[in-house]
Amino acid sequence: MSMHELTLRQIASGLANKDFSATELTQSLLARIQAVDPQLNSFITVTEELALSQAKSADERRAAGENGALLGAPIAHKDLFCTRNVLTSCASKILSGFKAPYDATVVEKLAAAGTVTLGKLNMDEFAMGSANESSHFGPVKNPWDLTRVPGGSSGGSAAAVAARLIPAATGTDTGGSIRQPAALTNLTGLKPTYGRVSRWGMIAYASSLDQGGPLARNAEDCALLLQAMAGFDPKDSTSVDQPLDDYLAALSQPLAGLRIGLPREYFGAGLDARIGEKVLGVVEELKKLGATVKEISLPNMQHAIPAYYVIAPAEASSNLSRFDGVRFGYRCENPVNLEDLYKRSRGEGFGTEVKRRIMVGTYALSAGYYDAYYIKAQQIRRLIKNDFVAAFNEVDLIIGPTTPNLAWKIGEKNADPVSAYLEDIYTITANLAGIPGLSMPAGFVDGLPVGVQLLAPYFQEARLLNVAHQYQQVTEWHTQAPTGF
Ligand code: GLN
Repeated sequence: MSMHELTLRQIASGLANKDFSATELTQSLLARIQAVDPQLNSFITVTEELALSQAKSADERRAAGENGALLGAPIAHKDLFCTRNVLTSCASKILSGFKAPYDATVVEKLAAAGTVTLGKLNMDEFAMGSANESSHFGPVKNPWDLTRVPGGSSGGSAAAVAARLIPAATGTDTGGSIRQPAALTNLTGLKPTYGRVSRWGMIAYASSLDQGGPLARNAEDCALLLQAMAGFDPKDSTSVDQPLDDYLAALSQPLAGLRIGLPREYFGAGLDARIGEKVLGVVEELKKLGATVKEISLPNMQHAIPAYYVIAPAEASSNLSRFDGVRFGYRCENPVNLEDLYKRSRGEGFGTEVKRRIMVGTYALSAGYYDAYYIKAQQIRRLIKNDFVAAFNEVDLIIGPTTPNLAWKIGEKNADPVSAYLEDIYTITANLAGIPGLSMPAGFVDGLPVGVQLLAPYFQEARLLNVAHQYQQVTEWHTQAPTGF
């Protein structure tokens, strides 16, 4: 096996056995990124110098007797995590030239565990999108079909891992941005419970929904990363002070007696029937492993998209007010006065989708409409949460599709943003309720990957990883690589 085909787990044993050093691995992946990424556009910045110095120090720590599972592991970060002295752009022109003076907690924790940062990954501008087409740095291509989108907003993370440029990456998920690109590129991606992973140093999109998490080729690698990323952080006031499970130890638990729920609302109009069949295929496999299945109901699911597309833009309009041409990044040329500076810096710095959401959010929060939109959306959010709480009284795990459709053609949904919003139907309820969700590979339709989503009660990330790992012990979907990569 070539070095670029190895999973994090295999890299850890290769390093421990001295098959190769972290420096050799890093050099070989840097060369591969340079050769292959022009086809994909998954990286915004390649941090060669940083990577080589982190790799050297990982090799030194190993030589001194350390043997951590991530010591020397190459990864890259979504360009929404602040990285000290390295461009952090959120794929927006408005952050041109912005170098954060500090590392995000996630970046810091992973670096402390010994990971090697190869660079910063492309994404939808400010994480707004499902196709990675709204990036100031251009669209990302799906390695399974270069004419198609890789999903979004963590599309660079997904494309880079799927194309074997890096074994794993960080992403963030406000309404599906880890799970949906994982589904469209044949990866395993986990959105943790809200509060499980620190948001400190993550550039905010919708603060009550945003959550960082891992994208990797299998559940075991996600467990390795989550173990290092998660945990209480006094710098994030919504971070939860609750002990971490041992995610790796949980992987091997048998599934006998696991109660699975299939929501009847998931299988209605709008779902590509071929994806529905893959979901049932996963259920059959889990039954063989000892799970039982029953139909459940999530009656308020139909209200999730409208509620999300009020709450997320409302919070975004407030969060993005800090980009004013004064404090960070881009400033317009020759402003005539302060108002002109604000207006033109923002007008020139933000892309179309970001402006659309700032306008929707500002409108929804305005005095005359606040009750009708924002308050109403928050009420719906509570109903959606209650649906999950009721469902999890009956079952341990909910299974369904991650996306209603396969990866679409680049540009196909540009004229109609709402058609892209509808792609989030299965993922955004987990963000609205705050529960954890995972997408894993479940087969192919027309040569394109299909993802199946698992949802669990609050703080049950270990259960999601356990079920996905057990499924991956008896299936091969997750090991398939796109042709040519
Ligand atoms: N597609 C959703 C949106 O555009 C979700 C994005 C995300 O999770 N960051 O808001």
